Amino acid sequence: MDTPADIEKAVAALRAGGLVILPTETVYGLAADAGDPRAVAAVYAAKGRPSFNPLIAHVADLATARRISAFDARAEQLTARFWPGPLTLVLPIAGEGAVCDLARAGLDTVAVRAPAHPIAHALLEAFGGPLVAPSANRSGRPSPTTFADAMDETGEAAAAALDGGPCAIGLESTVVALLDEPRLLRPGAVTRAEIEAVIGPLSEAEADAKRSPGRMTRHYAPSLPLRLNAEERLPGEVWLGFGRQGGTGFNLSPDGDLTEAAANLFAYLRAADRADGASGIAVAPIPDAGLGEAINDRLRRAAGFVG
Ligand code: AMP
Ligand code: MG
Repeated sequence: MDTPADIEKAVAALRAGGLVILPTETVYGLAADAGDPRAVAAVYAAKGRPSFNPLIAHVADLATARRISAFDARAEQLTARFWPGPLTLVLPIAGEGAVCDLARAGLDTVAVRAPAHPIAHALLEAFGGPLVAPSANRSGRPSPTTFADAMDETGEAAAAALDGGPCAIGLESTVVALLDEPRLLRPGAVTRAEIEAVIGPLSEAEADAKRSPGRMTRHYAPSLPLRLNAEERLPGEVWLGFGRQGGTGFNLSPDGDLTEAAANLFAYLRAADRADGASGIAVAPIPDAGLGEAINDRLRRAAGFVG
C-alpha cells in the first residue's frame, strides 16, 4: 500500500504537469491536472486516444463538483445516493478553467465523478483540484484492473504510480447525462434500475454520437476475435465461461455472480488473449439484467459490434 510520502510525490508530479497511474474502485486511471492542457495532451498521447474523446474530471468532493459544473436537483439527488462511487454525471460546464477545453474536447459540458477509492480520494484531496483520469490502457485495449496491467499499458508515460491492489469493481463508471432528459450514455457499475429509482425514467432515445464520443463501436478490444453467447468452445478457441457453462479455460464467475464477473472481466479478457496458440475467445452468455447490461456492453464493443 502507498504511504503519505507516495501521495506527496504523486502530487508533485501532477503539479509539474506529469502523469500518475492511479487506482480507483472502477479501473486504474492515468491521471493529470484537468486544468493543464499540456498535461491533458500527454494523457491523450500516452493512450494513443483520439483527441475528440472527452475525459472525466475526477473530484475529491461535492463542493469541487458544484464549482466546476452546473449542478441541478437531479445531480444533487444522484450524488447524495451514489457518491463517492462509480457514477459519472455530464453537466453544463461552470467555473473558470479548472477543466480545460482539451479535457472536454471542446464541449460546453463536463463529466464529473468523485471516486470512492481511498488512494484516489487522498490524491484528489492533496492535489486540491480536478484530475482527468481515463483508464490507463492504450486506446482500444481493455481497461487495466491491476497495478501490473496498468504499468504494462502506460507505466512508461507516468512520472509516478500508486498501487492500490486489484480494483474492487473492475468496470468503468456509469455515465449519465443531465442536460435535458436524463440519458444513460454508458452503462456501468451503477445500474439503470438504481438510477431510475432515484430520478425516474431515463430517456430511451439513442444518445447523440457527438455528446458521447466514448461510445465508439470497437473499444475495450483484445487482439483475438471474440465470439459472444457461445454455448461451447470450438477447436482453437479459449473459453471464457460464466456460471456452470463448463469447459476448461476461464470462468468469470462459476457461481453466476454478476458482481464477481464484472470484477474479473478485463483481467480475464487479457489472460485469454495471451493464451498460447489460440485463434479466438468464446464467451458464454451473460444475463442482461443489472450489472449484466454493462458487462454485455463491454463485450459487444470488444467483439466489434455496435453497442
Ligand atoms: P473514460 O475516461 O475512458 O472512462 O471515458 C470517459 C467517458 O465519459 C466516455 O464515454 C466519454 O465519452 C464520456 N464523457 C466524458 N465527458 C463527456 C461529455 N462532456 N459529454 C458526454 N460524454 C462525456
Ligand atoms: Mg477507457
